Amino acid sequence: MRIKILGSAAGGGFPQWNCGCSNCSRLRRGELNAVPRSQIQVSITTDDQHWFLLNASPDLRYQIEATPELHPRKLRDTPVAGVVLTTGDLDQVLGLLLMRELQPIRIYATEAVRTIVQHENAFFNMLAQYDGQSRWKPIDATAPFTLEADGAPMLRCSPVPLGSGYPAWVPPALANRLPREEAVLGLIIEERGGKGKLGYFPACGKITPELVELMEGCDVVLFDGTFWEDRELQRAEPSARTARQMGHVPQGGPEGTLAMLAGLRRPRKILIHINNTNPILDRDSAEHRQVIESGWEIAEDGWDIRL
Ligand SMILES: [Zn+2]
Repeated sequence: MRIKILGSAAGGGFPQWNCGCSNCSRLRRGELNAVPRSQIQVSITTDDQHWFLLNASPDLRYQIEATPELHPRKLRDTPVAGVVLTTGDLDQVLGLLLMRELQPIRIYATEAVRTIVQHENAFFNMLAQYDGQSRWKPIDATAPFTLEADGAPMLRCSPVPLGSGYPAWVPPALANRLPREEAVLGLIIEERGGKGKLGYFPACGKITPELVELMEGCDVVLFDGTFWEDRELQRAEPSARTARQMGHVPQGGPEGTLAMLAGLRRPRKILIHINNTNPILDRDSAEHRQVIESGWEIAEDGWDIRL
């Protein structure tokens, strides 16, 4: 399996258009030892010909142009064989609208995510201009499914319900009717023949023993790197919710990710979905050093990982 990280930041990117936090303003002035990042986007393949996108970032147009492997090979074409939606979060589905140019597209999603994305937003009719333009493949939040390219099975995905709520834009009356386990999924993605296993958990609100065990079986884990501290966002926006209320375990502290996952031995551990306020983005910070010394890496746009 090959994993390309096209974007590694949380929603808003780094820097974020309306943010004058220490990280964003120093990055703009060229005074921060850090690199800019686009909003999270991961693509995977096993044959370098057919690629699957994990969600669809608002930065997808630019990310595809920056990635020669994803360019069309003939007049109207794409090596993108499908998109897997793990949530209905705006920052993870907006990119679908950028893929609307009458190009057939296969979308794997739970019924709940399909309902909120497609039926609640008339914009998404642009993905249904003719029969078969968007080919939604319903997935069960608790049953494995297969990613297919040109009719052939390519990767096996096992969803892991992560138990957070539906995005804030979903009307509460609708959100309350939908099954909670379909709201946010992690994924264990395996190559056929057991040649490589990726754990994808860009939004994780709770680290359970079961989750740790699943991650220990992986070769690479891409894990929620959103915030260092629970109250980090409140310093920029006093009315903001805490990291945990937003469904993100922070990295620091006795119950943070570094402590809770200190026992992981097998996988290569990479933080992704990093918010622009997170001090780990600054390579000269104590927090960055602590992350690296704990055996974690901090994802950057353009990384190419081969299992
Ligand atoms: Zn900022």
